[in-house]
Amino acid sequence: MDWLNDDGQHSLRVLDSLVLSPAGWSDVDTGGPSLPSSDCFLKHFYYPRSPIHNPIIEVTYNLWSIFPLVLLLETSSRMASRLPILVYPHPNLRKTAKPVEEVTPEIAQLVDDMVHTMYEANGIGLAAIQVDRPLQVIVIDTSEEKNSPQVYINPEIGTSMGSQTTEEGCLSVPGFYEDVERAESIQVTALNRNGEQFTRDLEGLDSVCVQHEIDHLRGKVFVDYLSRIKRSRIRKKLLKAKAA
Ligand SMILES: [Zn+2]
Repeated sequence: MDWLNDDGQHSLRVLDSLVLSPAGWSDVDTGGPSLPSSDCFLKHFYYPRSPIHNPIIEVTYNLWSIFPLVLLLETSSRMASRLPILVYPHPNLRKTAKPVEEVTPEIAQLVDDMVHTMYEANGIGLAAIQVDRPLQVIVIDTSEEKNSPQVYINPEIGTSMGSQTTEEGCLSVPGFYEDVERAESIQVTALNRNGEQFTRDLEGLDSVCVQHEIDHLRGKVFVDYLSRIKRSRIRKKLLKAKAA
C-alpha cells in the first residue's frame, strides 16, 4: 500500500492491482448457505432415536445428535466471500443506504464479506453500497498490517474539526486519485459487529476514510468533489474500460 504521498501526507491511494469481477455490473447474490426447512431438517437429521423411550430423554438425545451438524452449518456460514464491487458510474452507487434495524447474523456475515472483499481488493475502506447492499454498513482498515478492521454500522458524525486535504482513491473508481478536502478530526457514533453502540474520536487517515465511506451511504462518490470536467473524464474512461 502507498500510504504517504510525496509531501509526506497520508494518501488513500490503493494499488492498481484491483481486479473487477465480471459480475461487477450485475446484481449481487450474497446468499450464503441456507438452512433446510424444518420438516426436511427433522426428516433427515432427527435419527438415530434414543434407545431409552422417554419423551424428554428422546428430545434431549436427538438434539445432541444434530449438534455437530448445527456446528458445521454455523462454521460454514462464517466463511467470508469476495463480493463484486460496483464501478462508477453504476447507478446503484447513487442509492441512499437504509439504517440497519438489528445486527442479525446476516448483517454480521455481510460485515465479514465486506472486510474480506476490502482486503482482497487492496482497499482501506468499503461501504455496503459499493457491494450493492444499500445498508448503513462500512468497514475500514488503515493499518499497515491489515489486521485491524473497524466496523461502523449506522454511523453518525457528531462533531468535526479542522480540515485536511488528502489524495483519495476509491475501489469503485479504480485507477483515479484526486485531492479532496475534508474535516481533520471527527467524532463518530455507530454500532459494532455485535450490535453494541460506541463513540470514537478519529483523526488523520481514519477520519478521512470514515468520511469517504459515509459519503457512499448518502449516494455520494469522491469524484463529486471534483470539477465537472474531471468527473466527466473519469466517467468516460471507466465506461470505456467497461465496454472493452
Ligand atoms: Zn469509495
